[in-house]
Amino acid sequence: MAPPRSPADRFTTKVDTSGPISLVRGVLGPCHQWTGSTNASGYGTFWAGRTVKAHRFAYEQALGPIPDGLDVDHICRTRACVNPAHLRAVTHRENILASTNHVAARAAVTHCPAGHAYDEANTYRAPNGTRKCRACKRDRTRAVRAQERDTQLVPVELIHPRTITTERQAA
Ligand SMILES: [Zn+2]
Ligand SMILES: [Zn+2]
Repeated sequence: MAPPRSPADRFTTKVDTSGPISLVRGVLGPCHQWTGSTNASGYGTFWAGRTVKAHRFAYEQALGPIPDGLDVDHICRTRACVNPAHLRAVTHRENILASTNHVAARAAVTHCPAGHAYDEANTYRAPNGTRKCRACKRDRTRAVRAQERDTQLVPVELIHPRTITTERQAA
C-alpha cells in the first residue's frame, strides 16, 4: 500500500504557480492561484484534518505559525492567491485598512473629473455610495433636452412613411 500523501503534498497539486502578475505596486512575481475549492468570499479552502483557509496553510508551511491573533493579509489583494511571498501577518485593523485604502484614496478626491467641487451643495450619493456631481448631472440633463428639441425640429416632410403604393413599386 502506498504511504498516504501528506497534506503539504496534496496542497502543491492544487496550486497553479503561473498565475497572473499582481497589479499592486511592489508585489514580486506571479500569484499562485488556488485551484481547489473556495469559500463564498473567494478564499481557497483546504482539508488538512479540518477545513483551513488555503492561504493560511501556505503561510504556515513557508513561514511558520501565524502569530496569535493576527490575520494573513494578501499584499497582492487576490484572495485565491497562496504565494507565500504575497502574504503577510498583520493585525486585523491593518488588514481592514489595507483593503479599504482605495476607498480612502477616493475620499481624498475633492473635485469631479470636470473640475466641480464635491461640496455639500454640489454632491449627491449614487445608490452604491459613490459621490456624484450635481453640476455635471445638470449639464447632462440640459444636453439631453437640447437633443430632444433638435429631434422635434426635424421637418415632417422629410419622413417618408411606407405606403401601399411604394411597396407595390418595390415589388
Ligand atoms: Zn498573489
Ligand atoms: Zn462635475
